[in-house]
Amino acid sequence: TVKEHGRSHHRYYREEMRHAFPNEALMEAHLRRAIEFNELSIHLQPQMDLTNNRIDSFEALLRWNNRKFGFVTPAQFIPIAEASGLIVEIGDWIIDEVCRYQQEWRMKGYRPVRIAVNISPTQFRKEDFANKIKASLEKYNVLPGLLEVEITESSMTNVHETISILSELKQLGVYVSVDDFGTGYSSLSYLKRYPIDIIKIDQSFIADIEKDDKNEAIIKAIISMSHNLGLEVVAEGIEDLSQADFLKRYQCQKGQGYLYNKPLPVDTIVEQYFLN
Ligand code: C2E
Ligand code: MG
Ligand code: MG
Ligand code: MG
Repeated sequence: TVKEHGRSHHRYYREEMRHAFPNEALMEAHLRRAIEFNELSIHLQPQMDLTNNRIDSFEALLRWNNRKFGFVTPAQFIPIAEASGLIVEIGDWIIDEVCRYQQEWRMKGYRPVRIAVNISPTQFRKEDFANKIKASLEKYNVLPGLLEVEITESSMTNVHETISILSELKQLGVYVSVDDFGTGYSSLSYLKRYPIDIIKIDQSFIADIEKDDKNEAIIKAIISMSHNLGLEVVAEGIEDLSQADFLKRYQCQKGQGYLYNKPLPVDTIVEQYFLN
């Protein structure tokens, strides 16, 4: 079930963390210097157009290879980055990097492909969030439509604040998606109040499609609701063909998952998708 799946993952991460970092304070200390020491990198995972199996866009996912303790997963370090406030500097760095790739790709004549960036609640709520995005877009002369920000329901706690930030983003022309849709506790009424473009169905629903009729019903409902609201819908965590077939049958336009590609280093992405 979804619950067991989540719990075993949690245990796995915890054990790995105990092995890698003796405590969170030490992890935070290392994370503080991760940018400076060039330990952070970005992997890109293709988001497929399910109607023709072509790449529609990419999602940027952060990777941390610490000089002393090795690879640390986002599930381990993002919460530490968020709690310490370091996520703001790291998040700014990611947006800047992604815009830099876009400039480089454009100069090399590659076809334009949108990149989605995960935004944590602290970063989203920083007063100058939209302005920083604007500055990075201008610095590298990137079309705003080539950037997507992924937020979760946990960023949307204050209605007025959320409307104001999302309106700024809308005005800039960047896309906004709701990540991990279906796992939060928000009222669905935000979908009519907020200028959102895309819904990403959480991978926990996709993982158990065949095993659980309720998941099927929920996925069908999310897809049809998205269509009726004029929103794009993306399925996360597609691992096998039967999941892909199910999603296509119910007109889910886009999907990402190991069936198509794992998140890959940017150079690999360029070699595989732009250079041939
Ligand atoms: P997310 O944004 O929901 O990203 C999807 C996660 O699912 C990624 O894990 C991705 O590698 C993984 N995934 C993709 N396809 C499949 C699949 O077919 N099966 C399975 N089991 N997993 C799949 P990752 O990279 O470990 O990231 C985990 C979470 O950490 C992300 O969830 C996101 O919430 C957070 N995160 C990652 N990078 C960033 C970042 O740059 N900034 C922020 N604020 N959060 C990030
Ligand atoms: Mg995401
Ligand atoms: Mg997600
Ligand atoms: Mg997630």
